[in-house]
Amino acid sequence: MSAIENNLLQVKSRIQLACEGANRDKNNVSLIAVSKTHSKELVREAYVAGQLQFAENYVQEGVDKIEALQDIRKNLIWHFIGPIQSNKTRFIAESFDWVQSVDRLKIAQRLSEQRPRDLPDLNICLQVNISGESTKSGVSPREALLVCLDIVELPNLSLRGLMAIPEPGASLQSMKDFHHLFLEIQKHLKRHQFKNKFDTLSLGMSDDLEPAIRSGSTMVRIGTAIFGARNTEEPPETLEEE
Ligand SMILES: *Cc1c(COP(=O)(O)O)cnc(C)c1O
Repeated sequence: MSAIENNLLQVKSRIQLACEGANRDKNNVSLIAVSKTHSKELVREAYVAGQLQFAENYVQEGVDKIEALQDIRKNLIWHFIGPIQSNKTRFIAESFDWVQSVDRLKIAQRLSEQRPRDLPDLNICLQVNISGESTKSGVSPREALLVCLDIVELPNLSLRGLMAIPEPGASLQSMKDFHHLFLEIQKHLKRHQFKNKFDTLSLGMSDDLEPAIRSGSTMVRIGTAIFGARNTEEPPETLEEE
């Protein structure tokens, strides 16, 4: 068994245990493999082991990797989870299936305009800054509902939920508050009968997937526990567009 296959099994058993402990169905938590800084060969290895959903943080690296794995593109679901500069949105809109790191309306508007019409709607999560730190991206919990109400009006997008990156060691309570915010927005959108399936609470990484699942996460984003330690040097961004 390859190391990645073994790691995937271990992560899945952690997810299963956390779900059992929280009285939840493990089928309601999807596993996203965060492949940033790792090679396309490792992505392919994870794919051969059965992993179909992957996430990238850097536009150029992600676009290159998706392109290099064109032969299996139709079997994969690619998520963009990194900070977004507005002059890079076109590349994201053209290459990815999900964008989880939308942190302002302007970004959603550009993705909506730039999503190619022959592709399905781009799945969107609004990133919320639940630690309240000025260095973190994301809208404040207070603004989240209003931004969601604007995003659901945009064509070519499907608003699927919320994403957060808690501080290391964040309290269980802060994750539960985030789940509560998600449920409130979900209720609000349902009442207004929006077409969108607002069903995704993206929360939990290698070190905090258990408390995240206990707090209601439906999507965990796991890098290190699947692929091992990352190459810490950030790849250069070379794509340019206005
Ligand atoms: C890198 C990253 C992850 C994965 O983190 P690990 O601790 O390696 O599991 C998850 N989400 C986001 C937004 C990331 O940038």
